[in-house]
Amino acid sequence: MPDLMEQITSLAKRRGIVFPSSEIYGGLRSSWDYGPLGVELKRNVKDAWWRAMVQLRDDIVGLDAAIIMSPKVWEASGHLEVFTDPLVECRNCHQRFRADDLQGEPKTCPNCGNHTFTDARNFNLMFRTHMGPVEEGAEDVYLRPETAQGMFVDFATVQQTSRHKVPFGIAQIGKAFRNEITPGNFIFRMREFEQMEMEFFVKPGTDEEWHDYWIQERLRWFTDLGVRPDNLRVREHDADELSHYSKRTVDIEYRFPFTDWGELEGIADRTDFDLKAHERHSGEDLTYFDPETEERYHPYVIEPAVGVDRAILAFLIDAYRVEEAPTAKGGTEKRTLLALHTDLAPIKAAVLPLSRNERLVPAAREVFDLLKHHWMCDYDDAGSIGRRYRRQDEVGTPFCVTVDFDTLDDRAATVRERDSMVQERIPVASLVERLRERL
Ligand code: ATP
Repeated sequence: MPDLMEQITSLAKRRGIVFPSSEIYGGLRSSWDYGPLGVELKRNVKDAWWRAMVQLRDDIVGLDAAIIMSPKVWEASGHLEVFTDPLVECRNCHQRFRADDLQGEPKTCPNCGNHTFTDARNFNLMFRTHMGPVEEGAEDVYLRPETAQGMFVDFATVQQTSRHKVPFGIAQIGKAFRNEITPGNFIFRMREFEQMEMEFFVKPGTDEEWHDYWIQERLRWFTDLGVRPDNLRVREHDADELSHYSKRTVDIEYRFPFTDWGELEGIADRTDFDLKAHERHSGEDLTYFDPETEERYHPYVIEPAVGVDRAILAFLIDAYRVEEAPTAKGGTEKRTLLALHTDLAPIKAAVLPLSRNERLVPAAREVFDLLKHHWMCDYDDAGSIGRRYRRQDEVGTPFCVTVDFDTLDDRAATVRERDSMVQERIPVASLVERLRERL
């Protein structure tokens, strides 16, 4: 039996969820493409985050900043300086260290105690390119390594145009790029990935309380979406592990099968580091004026930051099961199941005509046409009904709606629920309402 990661990677490929990029050319290590089902899953993960972080709140607004920002941003943020030291990376925990900082012989990772490292490299984590059609004389620019800087450089504009008072937040979902030395573990560590980050601006002195608040909120987001609490834990960063901008950072870790525990989301108290740095470098005033107390200050920032792809990987691992299921003939057989939360499932309902009979097809099409206005649906008429159920189970479709010969008389269809496999006869006229109650 292949290990869990192999099973999930293989399912993802076989069903067109996620597979290696440019595969006909042998792929590009660390780049992955989302296929027809993957793109739906990804949208659902992003929608769930946006709903929780922006739509349901009156104190957070959205932003979509450019991927290529002024190179001065990265000078101010410290990314150019911090990411150009000669560093080695621990092959186990992927923490990076200055080679000369490592103690002992053999050299030992201060974070995890491992002894194998990559060669020391004078590397910059950022992808560099040129702005302008000719290389000579063009400006060196970078693909952003995090989305966060957009929120800092646009802080004053967003605050003034949205007229929000501190505390308030700015949220963004978008691509980020890092020239990681050791990409791998499927979509856990990529060089091109997507982030969901929110910068929450608070009055200095209230930051510790808000930090605790966001740790709890973010944990709840994962458990509300069905992640088993046993597979999540909160880990405090040690002082020597903290990023250059952070006062305190906590990781929400997931029990990934390849690392035991690995970072899923980071929640950092970035203090006023970024706003002050950008003020210094740009000469623009990035303070906030509090109309109630008539004080002017640089807000502190609490940042929950999570990778879309890494979250997807955790959702997939958590939802993946292989079970013994009863067959029509009275035996049992293995069924692979993605018990995804209904909000995340790529397809919400599959419409299955019992056969390709010419009387059944129009009735099934009619049901599909009815449901497709409400949810992403699938129409599948290929193979035995049992095989079609299994196919939907393994991509997490919560409901299969089967149209059979009785449907032609009683105008009802059989709705089968994914996890319990319980079947229920429901009138076509009330299908939308009944499914809506459960989706
Ligand atoms: P790691 O320690 O795993 O390198 P990090 O601490 O550098 O991560 P952050 O800068 O805190 O990561 O980024 C926030 C989130 O973005 C991470 O928690 C993770 O979910 C995601 N992320 C970071 N780097 C990658 C990557 N190379 N591939 C996929 N997701 C990533």
